[in-house]
Amino acid sequence: MQTIQTRPELRQKLSAWRGAGERIAVVPTMGNLHDGHISLVRIAKSHADRVVVTLFVNPTQFGRGEDFATYPRTPEQDAAKLRAAGIDLLFAPDVATVYPFGIDAATRVSVPGLTDSLCGTGRPGHFDGVTSAIMRFFALLQPDLAVFGQKDYQQQLVIRRMVDDLGLPVEIVVGPVVREPGGLAMSSRNAFLNSKEGEIAARLYETLRGTASEIAAGNRDFGKLAASGMETLTEARQAPEYFEIRRAADLALPRSNCTELVVLAATRVGTVRLIDNVLVAAQ
Ligand code: AMP
Repeated sequence: MQTIQTRPELRQKLSAWRGAGERIAVVPTMGNLHDGHISLVRIAKSHADRVVVTLFVNPTQFGRGEDFATYPRTPEQDAAKLRAAGIDLLFAPDVATVYPFGIDAATRVSVPGLTDSLCGTGRPGHFDGVTSAIMRFFALLQPDLAVFGQKDYQQQLVIRRMVDDLGLPVEIVVGPVVREPGGLAMSSRNAFLNSKEGEIAARLYETLRGTASEIAAGNRDFGKLAASGMETLTEARQAPEYFEIRRAADLALPRSNCTELVVLAATRVGTVRLIDNVLVAAQ
């Protein structure tokens, strides 16, 4: 595994692979890697000849007052995990390499509509930061394939839409959510939960699953189910931001005859913001 920090080195490496006709996959990450990230690396390896992981804590997707400064950064451990996972290249640029003209003058990409609800409401500007950075990585790497996690359900839909809308020649593959033994979705921010908070946080997945089972069993009162999800999380001593049932394909509000659905929530436990979701195929 080679680690590269600059654009010219990256270009040289990738053009050699492309010239040899090799298929290149990228797994974009913000580092502090856990088994969820590594599962995406495995998926990437099964689809491509070369796997590149990007490690970049992207400042433009953090709002004012969010945790950019304190986001966990563990580059040495991350490199060791990626070497063990057998990737070809780690691209770990600094902010000036990713945004050479500065953040305020940076070219931006937005996906309106899909980003207007759910996490887009609680984190205004977040998805513009994500799509602008991912578009940059797609331009720099020109990968054949990119792998994202279902954990960030809205994010993967927004990226798919960007790719479809702009006609980018990148295949998007989405990997399932990897969970802790108690059900909590793995996340870099879980390290900030103490053991009591960890137990409280586990109620998120339990509640999402409970709602999904009710829908699968035929309950179509989505408004009531969502309100009851909010209530359950509040009673569990969480501070839920949203708990919603949406159409899986495009996050539209579902009609009662909709079959492919997703239950999504964002919540806070202590100072930690958590998101998770469960897909439901209703009859
Ligand atoms: P992040 O480093 O948090 O930006 O995440 C990088 C990628 O890993 C994103 O595509 C996430 O959706 C994905 N990811 C994060 N947590 C998990 C998880 N628990 N299981 C699977 N993928 C995940």
